[in-house]
Amino acid sequence: MDSFAITHCIECGKPLVGRKDKKFCDTECRAAHHNKNKSPGELEIQHIQAILRHNRKILKTLCPQGKATVRRELLNHLRYDYRYFTGTYKSAVGTYYLCYDYGFAPIMEGNKQKALIILRQEYMDKPPDPWTLKPGQ
Ligand SMILES: [Zn+2]
Repeated sequence: MDSFAITHCIECGKPLVGRKDKKFCDTECRAAHHNKNKSPGELEIQHIQAILRHNRKILKTLCPQGKATVRRELLNHLRYDYRYFTGTYKSAVGTYYLCYDYGFAPIMEGNKQKALIILRQEYMDKPPDPWTLKPGQ
């Protein structure tokens, strides 16, 4: 064996089996090692990206036809995280909270809180002017 080859997992120290250029025993050790070397800011970005991905997956699942209305409880049940979105779009219906290529607007049907889920449309990509938005809009 090449005397310079790493023979033990850099992360946990377990003996390595297999390819000579291996540094980790498994993907968990690889991820743990790489996360350790990330700055807190980078970890925060990764964390929020995971939440956005989760939110998008929920919207995509609930909206297979490009438009759907669901009860708010369903989003809550699926642990939709309302803190994060990738953009907003204001329309007559209200404000759409976009999550990549999907989005939802909180609406009322009678006394029921619902979410109108849509597939993002090109016309929604017009950049908003943050300086003209009023608080609460
Ligand atoms: Zn390991």
